[in-house]
Amino acid sequence: MSTPRSFKQELVGVFGYPVAENPTQAMIEPAFADMGLAWRYLTVEVHPDRLGDAVRGARAMGWRGFNCTIPHKIKVIEFLDELSPAAKAIGAVNCVIHRDGKLIGDNTDGKGFVTSVSEVRDPKGLSALILGAGGAARAIAVELALAGASRLTIVNRTAKTGEALAAHVTQQTGVPTDFQPWTGDVAVPSTTDLLVNATSIGLFPDVDARVAVDVTSFRPGLIVSDVIPNPPRTRLIRDAESRGCVVLDGLGMLVNQGVIGIRLWTGQEPKPEVMRQALEDVFSA
Ligand code: NDP
Repeated sequence: MSTPRSFKQELVGVFGYPVAENPTQAMIEPAFADMGLAWRYLTVEVHPDRLGDAVRGARAMGWRGFNCTIPHKIKVIEFLDELSPAAKAIGAVNCVIHRDGKLIGDNTDGKGFVTSVSEVRDPKGLSALILGAGGAARAIAVELALAGASRLTIVNRTAKTGEALAAHVTQQTGVPTDFQPWTGDVAVPSTTDLLVNATSIGLFPDVDARVAVDVTSFRPGLIVSDVIPNPPRTRLIRDAESRGCVVLDGLGMLVNQGVIGIRLWTGQEPKPEVMRQALEDVFSA
């Protein structure tokens, strides 16, 4: 007697434009395989003018959810049914969950970052200096504040966006957040527990680009984190390591936000080590 089989696969994926450089599929599909799930994660290029059609298509085809990346993280909101408290506070969505016929927008970038920090210290009472004021910085600042950070400083090249982010975080979370203009090499104050590079400086192929920080202000025990996933060992991470800092690379954040996404879509726990190894394999290939 033949065994009954199902050829149906559950679908999730990422919508972006451009999207070819996005490595998420390379870590999510190995996690699904390891979990024994017949799920696929597709990397889909969606032109900004067709985002509404793409979301309606995903809904019609019963996709279980999808990630959104640049430039769709804000625009997608108008096509969704609900937002999580984090997505509302951040004002952007990077993860959509299709549940009970509704598309719910969430934001897992900042939570993935906070998970990485929690692996080395309790975020409660932490003082952080955040370089950058774009989407990643916004998610990180809001989630650090919601996780109990006591003070945040935003440093950004463009003062207007930096000031706006500082005001937004203070208003949304009540955590004192100030703005500091980025002039010359930024020195890390001795009261700072965590330095975050949330800019795109150092991203492949500009791997030798230098984040303008005064590395002589780095002290042993300072946590230095870089959002850049490719390459994981950025110049900033290498400098921090050589000065005895605790380092958190961008792969950790990427894996941790992927873990949260898989949990939201499937209700099951993936293995972060399987996902990290899969990414290391593609980046070293
Ligand atoms: P945005 O374009 O929204 O923001 C980019 C930020 O970088 C801005 O603050 C910009 O400053 C700053 N910046 C860029 N170039 C320079 C420079 N030469 N000198 C000074 N500042 C600069 O991008 P995102 O916030 O969405 O993404 C930032 C990075 O985070 C990307 O490299 C992305 O790969 C990474 N990322 C990693 C994730 C992970 O899981 N590891 C998740 C999400 C993002 P200004 O305002 O002055 O232009």
